[in-house]
Amino acid sequence: MLLPGSTLGVLGGGQLGRMFCMAARNMGYRSVVLEPQQNCPAAAVADRHIQADYTDRDALQQLAELCDAITTEFENVPAESLEFLEQKKPVHPSAQAVAIARHRIQEKQYATEAGLSPAPYALIQSADDFASAVETTGFPAILKTTTLGYDGKGQQLVNDHGELERAFEQFAQVECVLERRLSLAKEISVLLARNAEGNVACYPPAENEHRNGILHQSIVPARVDEALADKARLQAIGLANTLDYVGVLAVEFFITTDNQLVFNEMAPRPHNSGHYTLDATLTSQFEQQVRVMCGLPPGDARLLSPAVMVNLLGDLWPVDWANCLSHASLKLHLYGKAEARVGRKMGHYNLLATDPEQALNQAAEVFRLLSE
Ligand code: ADP
Ligand code: MG
Repeated sequence: MLLPGSTLGVLGGGQLGRMFCMAARNMGYRSVVLEPQQNCPAAAVADRHIQADYTDRDALQQLAELCDAITTEFENVPAESLEFLEQKKPVHPSAQAVAIARHRIQEKQYATEAGLSPAPYALIQSADDFASAVETTGFPAILKTTTLGYDGKGQQLVNDHGELERAFEQFAQVECVLERRLSLAKEISVLLARNAEGNVACYPPAENEHRNGILHQSIVPARVDEALADKARLQAIGLANTLDYVGVLAVEFFITTDNQLVFNEMAPRPHNSGHYTLDATLTSQFEQQVRVMCGLPPGDARLLSPAVMVNLLGDLWPVDWANCLSHASLKLHLYGKAEARVGRKMGHYNLLATDPEQALNQAAEVFRLLSE
């Protein structure tokens, strides 16, 4: 067990790394962030910033020497870097778990093994695979690069063979997965924390709404029937157990218009849809990340209040903060990014209310004021 006073390392210095470092600091841990970007969001909070590439062996060596345990804030760290660190210090989640979660085919295979149901899909390595893939998926379908996609990037809706060909060309013929485009009623995510002893704390599902492929808001608890919410939680826990996963895991599901629960993807880290946990649950997802990498039991994931989390993208800048801060039950979180760009995640707010619909209405009213 690593106790306060220990030093925790994180690969990646974005907002997730920043909020991890804040949780670590609150609890009396020191933190070190490895991130190539100067003035990154986490650097302002970490005790130390190693400014270097994620593949820089000297930097990785230094991180391993400084830290008692290491985690990551994103799944696209090179597997070799995590493997290198793993030989020196405890790394959670493991290099293997991160490698699975960053690969759209592998994550679907593991999810299937754990009893979850992804949309019908097929691997596309060359144009020769188109015909048999379409036999599995039909049209419309979505072509996704197997790695490096996020916020709707690296994927394209395709309605016929011509569009499929063009999309594959656009992705420079890298390995892709083709999936059936399902008719969605809702999207939800289940967040959990699991430690090495297999103890799990699982949050209630969040209901996620996207705009232009980027998460706009999460509503908690999700407005889905209880049986489906329970099923999603059990499936997410089952997946974590199958992977013998140690860390914070987010599992995204679709609920189709015919009420089927479909596995979409997983993230081996705290998740944007879990930011409400900073204010609305007994333990935040970032405290969970600290706890489980230190070998502590996960904290209580109980929801203290219905909440709506709204992302603040650079599109909204400049912002009249009085519109946010004059609201007594709004909790503002800004990531300290100097430059606001369209689509860039700059911060979020959580709006808490005793009644979920009230939280939703008030969150929307604030967002309307910010958008004016
Ligand atoms: P990202 O890594 O960008 O989050 P996702 O695979 O989660 O990629 O896809 C982003 C969004 O695209 C989803 O949240 C959902 O709205 C939509 N989407 C993805 N796959 C499908 C599908 N098979 N059917 C219908 N909608 C989909
Ligand atoms: Mg997603």
